[in-house]
Amino acid sequence: MGNEQNVVEVMGIDAGGTMTDTFFVRADGEFVVGKAQSNPSNEAQAVIESSIDALKLWDRDIDQVYPELVTSVYSGTAMLNRVVQRKGMRVGLIVNRGMEDFHRMGRGIQCYLGYSLEDRLHLNTHRYDEPLVPAERTVGVTERVDSQGDVVIPMREAEAFEAAEKLLAQDVEAIAICFLHSHKNGKHERRVVEICREVLAKHGKNVPVFASVDYYPTRKESHRSNTTILEAYAAEPSRKTLHGLSETMRQQGGKFDLRVMASHGGTISWKAKELARTLVSGPIGGVIGSKFLGEALGYDNIACSDIGGTSFDIALITKGEFAIQKDPNMARLLVSLPLVAMDSVGAGAGSFVRIDPYSQSIKLGPDSAGYRVGVCWEEGGIDTVSVSDCHVVLGYLNPDNFLGGAIKLSVERARAAIKKQIADPLGISVEKAAGGVIEILDQSLRGHLRSMINAKGYNPIDFVCFSYGGAGPVHTYGYTQGLGFKDVIIPAWAAGFSAFGCATAEFEYRYDKSVDIAVPPSASDAVKQASCVTLQEAWGELAEKVIEEFRINGFAPEDVLLKPGFTMQYLGQLNDLEIDSPLSAVASVADWERIVETFDETYARVYARAARSPELGFGVTGAIMRGIVATKKPRVPEEEDCGPTPPAHASIGERPFYQQGRWKTAKLYHMEALKAGNVINGPAVIESPATTLVVPDGWSTRLDTHRLFHLREL
Ligand code: AMP
Ligand code: MG
Repeated sequence: MGNEQNVVEVMGIDAGGTMTDTFFVRADGEFVVGKAQSNPSNEAQAVIESSIDALKLWDRDIDQVYPELVTSVYSGTAMLNRVVQRKGMRVGLIVNRGMEDFHRMGRGIQCYLGYSLEDRLHLNTHRYDEPLVPAERTVGVTERVDSQGDVVIPMREAEAFEAAEKLLAQDVEAIAICFLHSHKNGKHERRVVEICREVLAKHGKNVPVFASVDYYPTRKESHRSNTTILEAYAAEPSRKTLHGLSETMRQQGGKFDLRVMASHGGTISWKAKELARTLVSGPIGGVIGSKFLGEALGYDNIACSDIGGTSFDIALITKGEFAIQKDPNMARLLVSLPLVAMDSVGAGAGSFVRIDPYSQSIKLGPDSAGYRVGVCWEEGGIDTVSVSDCHVVLGYLNPDNFLGGAIKLSVERARAAIKKQIADPLGISVEKAAGGVIEILDQSLRGHLRSMINAKGYNPIDFVCFSYGGAGPVHTYGYTQGLGFKDVIIPAWAAGFSAFGCATAEFEYRYDKSVDIAVPPSASDAVKQASCVTLQEAWGELAEKVIEEFRINGFAPEDVLLKPGFTMQYLGQLNDLEIDSPLSAVASVADWERIVETFDETYARVYARAARSPELGFGVTGAIMRGIVATKKPRVPEEEDCGPTPPAHASIGERPFYQQGRWKTAKLYHMEALKAGNVINGPAVIESPATTLVVPDGWSTRLDTHRLFHLREL
């Protein structure tokens, strides 16, 4: 192109359940968003289509742009779906003899994870999912390491050989090994790896072997084994998908290394050894993007909310930081992976709408039409009413502008379906039924948002709410109404916000290891010093893993910025706090005191000063190492204020719009044509190719100089 400013440098990808979004950033900070329907059977295809959709706005082709890119980050839901649908690899599992049923039984909580409160209370609703590895492919081997890491029963090698043979005879595609307390002493697990390899070689087979100590050396064998199994079960197939995507991009001239959003909020290479870390990636992009925008514009308390076709995801950023959940659950499995703390509700714009046969009330979801939109899209082949059908009937969405018009929706089909399935059985009009659906959805989202904030002891008045995802702006007014946020903000690129977030994320590995450091109040200096040695050793071990991961991508150790951290508690407490270490290395008593001081301060900030309990002594429960290398990031848009009146060409007509039981006439605007400073009063609908901002009667929105809409009730 000749013009350096126009070189496209960064690409973010969000392959969601409904849409595949791409986000491209130029050297001058300008960006475009593209959308295409997701294609679960060929993700690369959807990414290419979405890229074409984005780049046509700049009048450019992918084979021109891909070679210019320096960074591309992927997030998606494919791996999670593979687990949910139990479509992973045939894994064989080796555990302690006598513990063969542990994985199958799972933890009690796993049988009601993700349930509503009323269903949690009723035992008859509890349900155990099919185990990832069935009983016949789980084999026990005699050995025992105790909680201190001492060998109590040596491993019976003959049994290990037998186990490997037995699994191979069942044609397993991967082997996972998880012994009790192996995070304290991994000798036995590693020996079983060798034995498996020996047996594999004998049979001329090539099957990957995963020992929990080499992947997730953390306490709690349920979590550790789930995570190690996931690595074998779901991550390996994803590696193939990502490899395919990377190859496709290479064929189009791409020279960059594809990275993937990981659950801890950093991005890692698709070649990373531990890919199960990317099991949950899609919704995280939005939180990272919110943090990035917040840092740039000075918002430090943010309620992040994302609605797409399938789910509503909410997270809190307080004082500029998001929380990390240490033992979260993913796909109804407890895992030992750090996860950006988030609440997900299975309710979105594609959620199915049905009448509960017992209570005769309207029920939403939990299943959804996904990329097939609803009855309104004939080619989608859906015959159950979805929330999107209600949107089109009520004038929220423009049936001729779905994905910029690429998909034509039929208001008539939607009307007929709502009449037959919802309105007639309830004896009400179609608009009343559809309006009721929207109100139920809004109310339920509002409830979730409110309870998430209140449950953490915060008040919405101290927060701005960021609303994004294709369907976020459609419902922003509905789920924020009356909550009392300081401000409600909708980025004009809401539809591609998660992909944007991916593009803003650090290239960052994070590894965790459990440690047991206990320093009672009366501890001698020698104990404090020994504690430093233990922590430092764990950091050293983790740093090596981090550096090794970067080496795979061609970075030298000196390119990597290492950031150690730890989890700490007052001795004997059940929960611990995660803390960034104030020191890059620890050795002396003074270092130990510094660590303790940082913990004390953090504790006082998170809880209350009076709740501190130094008289109990201190315990360090985990070592954390993060490594970062610098990458190119997008810039926040900066435009000139053009005053409150929208330009004439931004106005694109009127449409009947049903809200609060009445038809009104909404003024329509073209989102991209609006200028900074413009104010729009409701009833109005601001349309964009992939999202729609609804401004009801009595509400007003203003576009600021960073292309952020601020929405408020007048
Ligand atoms: P997402 O899953 O984040 O891509 O959001 C998809 C949702 O965005 C759809 O289900 C629609 O409800 C909503 N949406 C709003 N406006 C549009 C539009 N113009 N085209 C496509 N989807 C839209
Ligand atoms: Mg989305």
